[in-house]
Amino acid sequence: MPVLHALCRTRTALACSLLALLPLGGATLAAEPAAPAGSTLDAADAPARCAALREARYAAAGLPGLEVTDAQWRPEGTPHTVPGFGGPPQTRKLPAHCEVLASSAERTGADGQRYAIHLRLRLPLAWNGRFLFQGGGGSNGVVGDALSGSGLDQGYAVLAQDSGHDNARNNDPQRNQELVFGFDPQARADYGHASLKPTAEAGLAWVERFYGRAAKHRYFSGCSKGGQEGMAFAQRYPEVFDGIVAAAPGFALPKAALAEMWDTQQFGRLVADPATGRVELGKLSTAFTGPQLKAVRAAILEACDADDGLADGIVGDTRRCTPAKVRARLVPRTCPSGGSGADCLSPAQIQALEAVLQGPRNKAGQALYSTWFWPSGIDDGGWRIWKIGGEGGMPPALNVLLGSRAMASAFSSPPVALPPGPQAGLDYAMAFDFERDAPAVHAVVAPFTRSAWQDVGMRDPNLSAFQRRGGKLIVPHGESDPVFSLADTIAWFDEANVLAKGRAAEFVRVFPVPGMAHCGGGPATDEYDALAAVVRWVEQGQAPDRIEARAGSRSPWPGRTRPLCPHPLVARYVGKGDPERSESFACKP
Ligand code: CA
Repeated sequence: MPVLHALCRTRTALACSLLALLPLGGATLAAEPAAPAGSTLDAADAPARCAALREARYAAAGLPGLEVTDAQWRPEGTPHTVPGFGGPPQTRKLPAHCEVLASSAERTGADGQRYAIHLRLRLPLAWNGRFLFQGGGGSNGVVGDALSGSGLDQGYAVLAQDSGHDNARNNDPQRNQELVFGFDPQARADYGHASLKPTAEAGLAWVERFYGRAAKHRYFSGCSKGGQEGMAFAQRYPEVFDGIVAAAPGFALPKAALAEMWDTQQFGRLVADPATGRVELGKLSTAFTGPQLKAVRAAILEACDADDGLADGIVGDTRRCTPAKVRARLVPRTCPSGGSGADCLSPAQIQALEAVLQGPRNKAGQALYSTWFWPSGIDDGGWRIWKIGGEGGMPPALNVLLGSRAMASAFSSPPVALPPGPQAGLDYAMAFDFERDAPAVHAVVAPFTRSAWQDVGMRDPNLSAFQRRGGKLIVPHGESDPVFSLADTIAWFDEANVLAKGRAAEFVRVFPVPGMAHCGGGPATDEYDALAAVVRWVEQGQAPDRIEARAGSRSPWPGRTRPLCPHPLVARYVGKGDPERSESFACKP
């Protein structure tokens, strides 16, 4: 579960331990496509070839150099242990491989912090001839495990990097803790995109040096911030990768952070102290009870479930699930008293949800981010944990815990230092002024020579260079993702399709995942293998007309299968056959 891992390693221990309770299955790797001719490396030579990489350096004009700091041979069965997230630590055995660590030269940032880019590269003895860049998560600042789920086991040479800052070291309590990197222009650019190409190129060079031949195919796979990185490669460095999986792409991260401030205000007002107007962090999660959110899901299902041909708890035809249709089913769920009740809604609650789905707007009514689809998985912990916090208030809303400091540091120019403590994040969000503060996303203020949007936004629909080089891009995205709006990803695809004269599907496809939360979880068929799909597309010319997906053990329907369909197609029941099986569904307009 690389996504969970990446999120957790960038998070406070508290947020992480609760995040870990959420099922995050979107990045599961299953069947491996036929491998190209791989390694002919002699097992007896491999440890010495690994040790020889300790001398390796990477230098290229205009890019930061990287130097190997360690290279160790890991024999077959080397144990790899990760924290158990509430249970005992989990240990797995790794295949024989060379583990390489590298970093750029340290430098002092404008904020006085010492920064460097770090990477990890794992080179398996049983190589499948492919290079895989494992995307990051959250605010990065940790070097990923470079296992990419089962990627290393499948024979990929896997690279992970920290995007140029280190959460353990670059962590200033007076300047938004690990988001301090937002105060340094280069560290912010490295986070946004600038660290990507040099690390990828260094990895490719060392793959060639170790195996004595270049990687035959190059892939990127990531979700969330990792999805943003995939988009950065497709848009800014299209020459690097043959195939990219950019799941739940945070390609509009700075604007999505505006939505986090907006959402917090809508929900915060529901629980504000009537006398002072102040919102206590511990109260935010009481904006909705669990039964109330179940009532909202019930309304969404009543309104929209059957549109795909089968009332099965899955809203396949998301785009037909309009605000008006859902409203018609929500209003009858209003409490008779006009107030709030355990499982009925107040008019103010319905209004808050509708304002959130409209997305942030300024006084002139201009959209500052995107609208959202009605999230059919709204009653899942994966939705509420971001928007209002877990039931009982723990963890506090991630939109506040993580979103506010990211907004203040990495996505605003000039960056703003918030006082320590989570309540300060909520106070900042509640006081956020969309006239005064939102323009900071696009502002260029010394010492920054580019805006946060220019450094981190990767929402360019022009993919012509990636198309010309024959690249393929797959974009899975949960319909109930509370962090990045599927509606925005679909709008981006539609723009890309116009630019590509209606032929975008020849090289890029978006796969909405009904009910799925951020990168996985929710009432959803969230187990699927997008990487295998992009590999088949690149190597066998087999375009993904559907991706087979399965519901996991924590879903309402363990074992249920469905096709994920490329937008604008929708998985529709064919009218006969087992409704639990994917074969009974076709991707249709
Ligand atoms: Ca349905």
